[in-house]
Amino acid sequence: MADKMKDVVVIGGGVVGTSILRKLSYYDLDIALVEKQPDVCEGSSKANSGIVHTGFDAPPNTVEAEALKRSRELWPQLVEDLKIPFIPCGAVMIATSEEEKEIIEKKYIPNAEANGVEVSWISREEILEMNPAVTDKVIGGLLIEGESICDPFTATRSHAELAALNGAEIYLGAGVVNIEKCSEGLKLILEDGKEIMTRYAVNAAGLYSDQIARLIGDESFTITPRKGQFLLTEERVEISQVILPVPTPKSKGTLVSPVAFGGFLLGPTAEDQEDKTDFSTTEEGLEKVLAGCEKLVPGSREYESIRQFAGLRAVCSTGDYVIRPSEADKRLVHAAGIRSTGLSASPGIAELVAEQLQSVGLELIEKEDALYETPNLFDDSEEDQTGEIVCLCRSITRGEIENALKSPLPPTTIDGIKRRTGATLGDCQGNCCIPKILEIMEEHGVSSDRPLKGLQKSYLTVGRGNN
Ligand SMILES: Cc1cc2nc3c(=O)[nH]c(=O)nc-3n(C[C@H](O)[C@H](O)[C@H](O)COP(=O)(O)OP(=O)(O)OC[C@H]3O[C@@H](n4cnc5c(N)ncnc54)[C@H](O)[C@@H]3O)c2cc1C
Repeated sequence: MADKMKDVVVIGGGVVGTSILRKLSYYDLDIALVEKQPDVCEGSSKANSGIVHTGFDAPPNTVEAEALKRSRELWPQLVEDLKIPFIPCGAVMIATSEEEKEIIEKKYIPNAEANGVEVSWISREEILEMNPAVTDKVIGGLLIEGESICDPFTATRSHAELAALNGAEIYLGAGVVNIEKCSEGLKLILEDGKEIMTRYAVNAAGLYSDQIARLIGDESFTITPRKGQFLLTEERVEISQVILPVPTPKSKGTLVSPVAFGGFLLGPTAEDQEDKTDFSTTEEGLEKVLAGCEKLVPGSREYESIRQFAGLRAVCSTGDYVIRPSEADKRLVHAAGIRSTGLSASPGIAELVAEQLQSVGLELIEKEDALYETPNLFDDSEEDQTGEIVCLCRSITRGEIENALKSPLPPTTIDGIKRRTGATLGDCQGNCCIPKILEIMEEHGVSSDRPLKGLQKSYLTVGRGNN
């Protein structure tokens, strides 16, 4: 770990932390990111609906609405610059009764207008033409043309990779366990006892951002987890847009959506819980998903699911994003309480955080040689065109896996390979290709007696045999 004083260290490598790191990497600063897990995108950022929301339903005049508004402007260029898989498919909120139509007219249309988001009421025929699988009980719906879907894994990683190319340091497996306030800066103490001195730190620790705040005596907000369970299917569902129900006060409801990297997603639930480590799926939760989706897209119940998973939203006691310097020590700037829109709002949050850092004294001078666009790092290798297919379900080649292992932020886990290449995402979920992938990782110097699936201690094997 470098001894030199950093200008800024971002704590947390989710989509929010990496987006902030990318933004700061455009300036003449010595910056780093510390992430507890062995890879970026291992928190809420890996288990969400993958929708780039417009903010049509965000509470107006909130920090969240402001971050989403800025993000609407920033996404189109970012998608180009960072090569993020992105489908501008639009979304439609389905009304199946006059009561639901009235909620849309009285609540969602005025809310969208207050936030400057274009929406329009469309007919039952228009909905069914674009989405034949939608229930024939539909009487019309709200078209939110600006809603899109993206690959959240690439979104998160591509921020980190561009920042790394711009000179940012990224420390993985580096959880912050303590922060000491010193006259010259903040001393971050990591799990393994290493220390990093920094003039400023950004708290982007997601579900754990309240615990990071507590390390400097800040008790101004609390984060509680709200679980969302999902089912993923590879069946052909005849929808071309994100199909939304009319939301409840607690959640946007279970939706049916195309997935940017293939297949269709059903979910999520909204279940408040205490435990920040409980990502389990349950029969009851998945039944709720199926029952909700069946109302929107009849037949959902019959889809064969290739995967079930859950993510946890960071629900904040303040009811809004917390993007400001800590009152306990202004050198720690919070990017916390980023609930269910953080993927969409991450570019705007990065701008807001940069402004907050400026407001407490950080000078932002643009670098002359900063990269704003991820360069093409690899030519299509020989193997990509002619060679060995490693993942049969998704036709992923050896060359694609090798390129991932040579990238600016190389993976050290199977999930890291999955999120960079798509290998193991298909029907067999890695049953056929994991041994081959481990072999290739070993050839590239990523070897371990106990390879990890993804998270800390998620060992794939119990150890290596003698032959
Ligand atoms: C079910 C569900 C559906 C969602 N759907 C959408 C959607 O469609 N569109 C959308 O825009 N948003 C959606 N979201 C919300 C979105 O996923 C989150 O808002 C976003 O991922 C938050 O990003 P983050 O970087 O703040 O948190 P995280 O991704 O959780 O990242 C925080 C990181 O901090 C690390 N960390 C924690 N403690 C420490 C420490 N002490 N030291 C170092 N590192 C630490 C964690 O390991 C983690 O990697 C959804 C969320 C869920 C759960």
